[in-house]
Amino acid sequence: MTEKFWNKEIETAPRDQIEKLQVQGLKKVIQWALDTPFYGKKLKKSEINSPDDFNCIADLTKLPFTTKDDLRNNFPRGLLAVDMSEVVRIHSSSGTTGIPTVIYFTQDDVNRWSDIVARSIIATGARKGDIFQNMMTYGLFTGGLGLHYGAEKVGMTVIPVSSGNTKRQVQIMKDFQSTVVHATPSYLMHLHSVIEQSGPGLAGLALRKTFVGAEPHSENTRLKIEEMFGIDAYNSYGLSELNGPGVAFECEFKDSMHVWEDAYIVEIIDPATGQQLPAGEEGEVVLTNLIRQATPLIRYRTRDLAYLTNEPCRCGRTHQRLSRITGRTDDMLIINGVNVFPSQIEEIIMQIPEVGTNWQICLDKDGALDKLTVNVEIYSKMFSGDASQIEKLRSRIKEELRASIVINPIVRLHEPGFLPVSEGKAKRVIDNRPKI
Ligand code: ADP
Ligand code: ZN
Repeated sequence: MTEKFWNKEIETAPRDQIEKLQVQGLKKVIQWALDTPFYGKKLKKSEINSPDDFNCIADLTKLPFTTKDDLRNNFPRGLLAVDMSEVVRIHSSSGTTGIPTVIYFTQDDVNRWSDIVARSIIATGARKGDIFQNMMTYGLFTGGLGLHYGAEKVGMTVIPVSSGNTKRQVQIMKDFQSTVVHATPSYLMHLHSVIEQSGPGLAGLALRKTFVGAEPHSENTRLKIEEMFGIDAYNSYGLSELNGPGVAFECEFKDSMHVWEDAYIVEIIDPATGQQLPAGEEGEVVLTNLIRQATPLIRYRTRDLAYLTNEPCRCGRTHQRLSRITGRTDDMLIINGVNVFPSQIEEIIMQIPEVGTNWQICLDKDGALDKLTVNVEIYSKMFSGDASQIEKLRSRIKEELRASIVINPIVRLHEPGFLPVSEGKAKRVIDNRPKI
């Protein structure tokens, strides 16, 4: 029988055991962090002078938060904890403002990261024997290489195709009979429309599972992907500052993502006050990396919004589960004074069966007021029928959106292929309003 766990003892450890591992891990991280110019100063300011100042998990709140700006302001070596000759890998993200952040890995760091990615893969039921086509971008972005090393560790057959060139992706899926793929949800939707257009549809494919991540998506989007391809889709969460993929992953039950708590300490905080929130309450995800020496990271404010569940999971794993990411503290739109997350719009439109695979929001000024336009691709068969049907659909989408976000949007329907496609993370919001 194939194994259900990658590391059963750790994955099913009782709470007190997990906390013991976390305290041990954090002591190590503090030691590593004190060796960096940035934390050397920052921790001492918070009167943390040695790992001995940290003795139980409640002591975590004595430690200061770290932000993306801290990483940027200390670029390139302010958080480097080892001699550069020990570094075997660099990942970097340029972000939208163009100021880069950089993460260094020692060989041990890469090995530990690959191990939790392998654990994540096994939790979904993927196995040695699966043919894994990795459609996530390879390069400085962590999505491609992160899954690659974990999948090799599991013993899967890895096809490192990276993103883009959709026709070739489909050909490779057929030629090598890929059983598992990894991509952003928006790219999978695009892939499906290319398969549809190119003739024989899904015939000749052997696909059974997909890992989807790197961008927010709703439960309805997951269901749509599963239905389109007739496969299971597992949510995968990670960010380059915390190594990349493998921070939290859904198990076979697809009911929120297990955070691997021996590798990451997760907290949910109120973004305004910084206070910790209990399980079930939504707030900002804060993560401490326990497995990376070269760039230690303590209480990192991810700006992602979610909540935790500590109810036992049917799979037997004891590690807490993180809900779907509902948005980022920095992607909230304020439209005529109303707070709207793009994820709310996605959730509504993706539950309408006539809606196709791509959508985009535009914000403009109309005099003093903000104007919201929601562009939605719908299936081409809608355009061959009665025009009044299209109008009916348009009014329905408009009405459902208005009821949910309390703003009256302009809704435009388009044929498939009208909106720009992204090979990596989708750009869903075009904000043309002048910056104040
Ligand atoms: P960047 O911050 O430059 O986008 P990353 O490529 O590391 O850097 O992206 C990490 C971010 O991507 C996360 O903070 C989160 O906002 C988003 N993300 C990653 N995985 C998911 C997921 N499964 N669901 C929702 N959002 C995700
Ligand atoms: Zn589970």
